[in-house]
Amino acid sequence: MIMGSIGSNLQEVKRRIAAASTSVGRDANKVTLLAVSKTFPAAAVREAHALGQREFGENYVQEALDKIDALADLRPGIEWHLIGPLQSNKTRPVAAAFDWVHSVDRLKIAQRLAEQRPAELPPLNLCLQVNISGEPSKSGVLPQDTLALAQAVAALPAARVRLRGLMAIPEPASSPDAQRAPHRALHELLSTLNARGLGLDTLSMGMSADLEAAIAEGATLVRVGSAIFGQRG
Ligand SMILES: *Cc1c(COP(=O)(O)O)cnc(C)c1O
Repeated sequence: MIMGSIGSNLQEVKRRIAAASTSVGRDANKVTLLAVSKTFPAAAVREAHALGQREFGENYVQEALDKIDALADLRPGIEWHLIGPLQSNKTRPVAAAFDWVHSVDRLKIAQRLAEQRPAELPPLNLCLQVNISGEPSKSGVLPQDTLALAQAVAALPAARVRLRGLMAIPEPASSPDAQRAPHRALHELLSTLNARGLGLDTLSMGMSADLEAAIAEGATLVRVGSAIFGQRG
């Protein structure tokens, strides 16, 4: 695939988000674009930021911390989201440096983030990562265990962490219908949780290859890497 510049790629992704939203009667402004900058240098993030992009997603804690440090001058006009797996021995720097963590899949991680979130910062926003296709080797809480985990996380100190919603990385599928099914299932799970009073407002789903399917099924945040920054090496 021949990639354009970050600027033209960003424009094209925004066009796709607008078209996908319009085609299902949704407001494109209700879909946040998270630019996934993993493996790309701080200079690429700075370039996207200069073009108006504000939300960035990273997978690897140490790589992210280095970039966050290198781009400290862009604070507070930049928001950092951890979307990759988080081990319990790495929660402390994450609690201090990030604005969001999308990959919470067990209570212990959320408890540590709540304990370690510096009191002078606003609450850390959390999503539960759900293994929506129920694949044995995949990370994420199973759908049937999500309500109990959500209730436990929502009960943690509100000044430190705030449960915002659900995240999933469905199995790749090529047909539009096959792409939509797991996204629909995640949306239904969110509705089930909200029917129990959880008040969640975030559905983090959809990537470069399936953002249209995710938006059609109600995504409020799409995580897009290669379509913006190019293929990863
Ligand atoms: C890498 C990654 C993305 C972005 O994937 P692309 O296919 O490059 O858009 C989104 N979400 C997660 C969790 C990722 O690890």
